[in-house]
Amino acid sequence: MTQSPALVWFREDLRLSDNPALTAALDHGPSLCLYIFDTSPERRALGGAARWWLSRSLTALSAAIAARGGELLVMRGDPAEILPRIVREAGIEFVAWNRRYDEPAIALDKVLKAEIAASGVTVESFNAALLNEPWQVKSKAGGPMQVFTPYWRAARERGTPHAPLPAPEAIRQAKLPAALRSMTLSVDELSLEPRKPDWAGGLRASWTPGEDGAQARLTDFLDEGLGGYRTERDRPDMPATSRLSPHLRFGEIGPRQIWQAVQMALETGETTGSPADAEKFLSEIGWREFSYHLLFHNPELAKRNFNRRFDAFGWEQDAAGLAAWQKGLTGYPIVDAGMRELWQTGWMHNRVRMIAASFLIKHLLTDWRAGEAWFWDTLVDADPANNAASWQWVAGSGADAAPYFRIFNPVTQGEKFDPEGAYVRRFVPELAKLDAKFIHRPWSAPQAALLDAGISLGSDYPRAIVDLDFGRRRALSALAQLRAGSGSEAD
Ligand SMILES: Cc1cc2nc3c(=O)[nH]c(=O)nc-3n(C[C@H](O)[C@H](O)[C@H](O)COP(=O)(O)OP(=O)(O)OC[C@H]3O[C@@H](n4cnc5c(N)ncnc54)[C@H](O)[C@@H]3O)c2cc1C
Repeated sequence: MTQSPALVWFREDLRLSDNPALTAALDHGPSLCLYIFDTSPERRALGGAARWWLSRSLTALSAAIAARGGELLVMRGDPAEILPRIVREAGIEFVAWNRRYDEPAIALDKVLKAEIAASGVTVESFNAALLNEPWQVKSKAGGPMQVFTPYWRAARERGTPHAPLPAPEAIRQAKLPAALRSMTLSVDELSLEPRKPDWAGGLRASWTPGEDGAQARLTDFLDEGLGGYRTERDRPDMPATSRLSPHLRFGEIGPRQIWQAVQMALETGETTGSPADAEKFLSEIGWREFSYHLLFHNPELAKRNFNRRFDAFGWEQDAAGLAAWQKGLTGYPIVDAGMRELWQTGWMHNRVRMIAASFLIKHLLTDWRAGEAWFWDTLVDADPANNAASWQWVAGSGADAAPYFRIFNPVTQGEKFDPEGAYVRRFVPELAKLDAKFIHRPWSAPQAALLDAGISLGSDYPRAIVDLDFGRRRALSALAQLRAGSGSEAD
């Protein structure tokens, strides 16, 4: 270790363990730990739920750094101005960060790397977020991949991910000149949490942001949740998935750590899960990797149809339908339960995300980008790669997507995956007393059953906003027109 000061710039890697940039900085010398809340116009502003998460996550990171003798310096503004200034004025000789993969971040990092390196300072970037860099997995012809199964096979053939790094025991802090000290803020001063109104009560009750919360969730999942994951992961009425997504999104835990923990739990028998459950779970981590691969090679994934033929698709402008969907008032219980779970907890079960997204895109014929934007604002795990890739997957416009003509029926999906209606009862309490036979189709309940359950359709709970058969036929006809127009397959 030298005595020359280093700087680690935290971004989407809000953890101390398996953080190669942090380890490299501390190996170099006394370090400044920096987080910049990026307000530059190039950056897509975080949604409300993600801002709440970030606030809590920074508080946790700050405490963890302080417990090791360091300090998390929090600033707000344009990193293109702030970072070079700190490097200059604090006499930093080594800068480290972990890579991000969205276009504006890549562009910013390139500029900063060149500028700082030109002043004679060493800059190094690392991979903390992925098992494989997006450019490391290639097709046989050496290009990007567009289909998940061969992608994941090729990724697996690259071998076991390397072992995660331990968290540093101590953090030796570099000196911060007074002029820079005056630029620092407390996490509270970033004002990321909602105040008037404070709508985050459901988020606080549901989550523990931060590295410790992430590790605890992983341990619980391996102890109790992994068993049966393969068959139960589609059941929103069961606690069958890991709920690690927001922790992964903010880098409070990395995929190498998850990978290793799964393998160790299997070896020691400290999990209820079977090798088949583990394989399925890791393949979902694989979908995350694949989404980042797609984003890296298609920087406009959240804005443009991956399949450009969909640019001519005849979307409806249904403002009332969109508003009903957002509020969970479509009259389709599984869709409404999902949208209300999202609003209350900042998260929605994957199966229900698919059903709700399909309903918006197909039955309401609304452009997937309106749904992507709503999820971006309301999900605690709102992710530049996973969200965009998943919306395009449902829309049929994405890589390796569900074909557009595959339209989820919210009634039969509800009956299959929430058979007793426990999930609907939880999030749509006005239907709580309805018999399981009718819970996913309240309009077909006899008047007496509705009366018994205390429901007056149209006042306590909305009538369906669109007829499923009509919606389905309209969607298929829009697809047929697209095909006729482009003279080729749109899916
Ligand atoms: C319309 C739509 C939008 C979505 N938006 C997001 C988003 O913004 N952020 C996000 O993290 N996921 C998104 N997903 C994917 C998936 O729904 C969530 O990752 C999953 O529900 C998170 O719950 P979990 O952590 O319990 O998942 P688990 O089943 O425990 O899976 C473990 C991890 O694998 C990853 N993963 C699982 N499924 C997928 C998938 N289909 N695609 C990519 N990665 C996956 C996640 O990081 C997840 O935490 C979206 C899916 C759909 C259909």
